[in-house]
Amino acid sequence: MKLIDGKAISKAVREELRETVSDLKSRGIEITLAVVLAGDDQASKVYVRNKKNACEEVGIRSLEILLPADVTMEELIAKIDELNSDPDVNGILVQLPLPDHLDESAVIRRISPLKDVDGFHPENVGALSIGLPGFVSCTPAGIIELLKRSGIEAEGKRCVVVGRSNIVGKPMAILMLRENATVTVAHSRTKDLASVTSEADILITAVGKAKMFGPEYIKDGAVVIDCGMNRDENGKLCGDVDFAACCDKTSFITPVPGGVGPMTVTMLMKNCIDSVRIQNRI
Ligand code: NDP
Repeated sequence: MKLIDGKAISKAVREELRETVSDLKSRGIEITLAVVLAGDDQASKVYVRNKKNACEEVGIRSLEILLPADVTMEELIAKIDELNSDPDVNGILVQLPLPDHLDESAVIRRISPLKDVDGFHPENVGALSIGLPGFVSCTPAGIIELLKRSGIEAEGKRCVVVGRSNIVGKPMAILMLRENATVTVAHSRTKDLASVTSEADILITAVGKAKMFGPEYIKDGAVVIDCGMNRDENGKLCGDVDFAACCDKTSFITPVPGGVGPMTVTMLMKNCIDSVRIQNRI
């Protein structure tokens, strides 16, 4: 078994991105990411802080826009419009989840697709599914990077993605198709999940259930990528896969924490750089 060290790979990618940003700066191009946070959800605050730190690390300017939890839809939309038309803002990210009274889907659709660094806008999702360039959701994009940098070839392999959310499972399946894997998507209505997942040469879990996958779900020698970010019975961060019970059966496996997680924010930084390229046509 080999561990896929998301932290180390993420560090290497950030180093490369820092050089690209510095190269752009020397040509007079500054990159700015606007992060909008509505309300004071503690987990969201941590995510926003991580994004700000990553921006600092690679040399991207970050603007934090804090709105009260009772912000109206009209006020939030007005703020997005302002950022859309601000030539100094390259990327816009609205931290999810939004307070319940706000329409998340309408907010995502309001962000200019050219500044949608999360890759959630239907235009970018559509572009991904028909193979056009555009922003790709950060977690699945990060997983592709992890596979490539670990020397794992996806072409011709059987890949099972468990989970079909718009931000992880679905784009993940499309990206693995693009890599020429033979892809199956499983979900909560899948019958006999273990018989499906134990066919997988590459198993990607994006469910959100602590240690749900034991060895009976895993083929001998499979590559296992675990997106889950859950708490176990002791409140410790853990994945969807029971790591201790499964790792010996795998050829490669991502740990939680330190696997998929660190790459997500790193790919956001990459999308910010791509946004400036798109907007400056370079
Ligand atoms: P969602 O809750 O949106 O989706 C979960 C998916 O899992 C759904 O498609 C659901 O199926 C499926 N599912 C639920 N229960 C089962 C089951 N018993 N058997 C098979 N499938 C099941 O979650 P996300 O996609 O947003 O996130 C998934 C996990 O990844 C979470 O733990 C989240 O915290 C983590 N995550 C980690 C990130 C990172 O940076 N590391 C970033 C984003 C997410 P159905 O559609 O039928 O309901």
